[in-house]
Amino acid sequence: MSSNFYVLCVSHDPAILSTEHRAGGDAADTIKTGSTLHPGCDLVIEEVSGGPVEIGCPPATSRGSGPRCYHSDVRWVEVQWLRMLSRAYTSADPKVADAVRQGRFTCWPQERLHRLRGSLGIEDEARERP
Ligand SMILES: [Zn+2]
Ligand SMILES: [Zn+2]
Repeated sequence: MSSNFYVLCVSHDPAILSTEHRAGGDAADTIKTGSTLHPGCDLVIEEVSGGPVEIGCPPATSRGSGPRCYHSDVRWVEVQWLRMLSRAYTSADPKVADAVRQGRFTCWPQERLHRLRGSLGIEDEARERP
């Protein structure tokens, strides 16, 4: 199955769709050249093939805002992994929540994942939280 790539704006809560692309490179270029729809916003790329597969964090220098990562290419992470990370952030077990905070996942602070809850399929759990 072929993939589609979506530029999502995570400066909004929840994240909103900006543009759709046939290739991940095109999505990355759109962010790099400056999105006219979301100037100054924090943007990520979602790869969808049947459902969300991976989320890409573009280099900090190509985004208007968002986490100050140090990678110079788009860094892709499996949606499944991000879902797990998001659950760990909000774990009822303080040891787990603590460990994940000390892990310093620069690309994926809790708030960014929370805004991506639609893509991560954690909508219901998010709603339960205050
Ligand atoms: Zn925006
Ligand atoms: Zn990053």
